[in-house]
Amino acid sequence: VKPPTFSYRRPSSVEEALGLLAEDGPQAKVLAGGQSLIPLLSMRLAAPGRLVDINSLTELSYVRCDEAGVRVGALARHAEVLADPAVAACQPLLPAALACVAHPTIRNRGTSLGSIVHADPAAELPAVLSLLGGTVIAASTDGRRTIGAAELFAGPLETSLRPDELAVEAFFPACPQLTGTAFEEVSRRHGDYALCGVAALVRLDDDLRIAEARAGYLSMAGTPWVLDLTEPVRGLAYDADLAAAGELAGRLLDPEPDIHATAEYRLQLARVLTARTLRRAARTAAGVMHDD
Ligand SMILES: Cc1cc2nc3c(=O)[nH]c(=O)nc-3n(C[C@H](O)[C@H](O)[C@H](O)COP(=O)(O)OP(=O)(O)OC[C@H]3O[C@@H](n4cnc5c(N)ncnc54)[C@H](O)[C@@H]3O)c2cc1C
Repeated sequence: VKPPTFSYRRPSSVEEALGLLAEDGPQAKVLAGGQSLIPLLSMRLAAPGRLVDINSLTELSYVRCDEAGVRVGALARHAEVLADPAVAACQPLLPAALACVAHPTIRNRGTSLGSIVHADPAAELPAVLSLLGGTVIAASTDGRRTIGAAELFAGPLETSLRPDELAVEAFFPACPQLTGTAFEEVSRRHGDYALCGVAALVRLDDDLRIAEARAGYLSMAGTPWVLDLTEPVRGLAYDADLAAAGELAGRLLDPEPDIHATAEYRLQLARVLTARTLRRAARTAAGVMHDD
């Protein structure tokens, strides 16, 4: 299958890239790792007039960690973020989720920021960014702006980025003390897009009892979905059964059926994965190593 005709530019600086995007507006598409865009072109589901290939912008090829969190530049590949020990120390939810993204060959080429702005409802990183309250920096010839995850995801494969904007950085906040995270998903085969995925975050009080429990979902709606599930589990011990939070998630979520799974099956996955990941997050927050 051949893509439709397009012109191709490979700018050598961010400024040049922004100029090209400003010139062509909605006709232009950024090409990063190409792991989503190239299949869309080949299947003729997208037909941009121009591709602006950002692979020479090595200044955007970075992963930086400090006590505030992890900053990922637009050219950082999934594999680099996944393998970085500083990332694992600073925000372990990132490698936990990235290990479920596709297969090694795709992770070697696909970019983490490209995955976020591609905004596939079944992708892992948009749910992680949403749960953590992360941000994306968008650059254009007008300057830069920071977009919170809650404002970024507008619908399936749709974000609030303007066509003349280049996403240059994603920021994933670190967790405060006594806070733990966990990630799990179910897919037909490892590396496939998930039928349901849950990123969980639990904050404990000084007595190691649950003070806050939240979960971010993928494949359960057209955009990543974050639920506050604290109420039914507030004050429970860190190693308690958190099935009540799973039941609440089952009442609040409203997935659509599709060819891969019925809505009821997705809800059952969400109930089970929510209880399980929240408990793992709570045990991590308490400093307990997992044996389950
Ligand atoms: C077989 C297969 C399985 C996969 N499985 C999964 C999976 O399980 N989970 C998952 O999350 N992903 C999966 N992916 C997708 C993969 O993670 C891609 O890497 C990711 O979706 C897009 O990143 P990319 O760098 O390849 O972006 P590209 O394909 O280059 O671009 C994707 C879209 O984002 C835009 N874009 C990219 N970067 C920028 C930027 N910096 N600024 C503005 N716009 C930008 C492009 O214009 C395009 O519209 C899979 C892909 C394949 C081929």
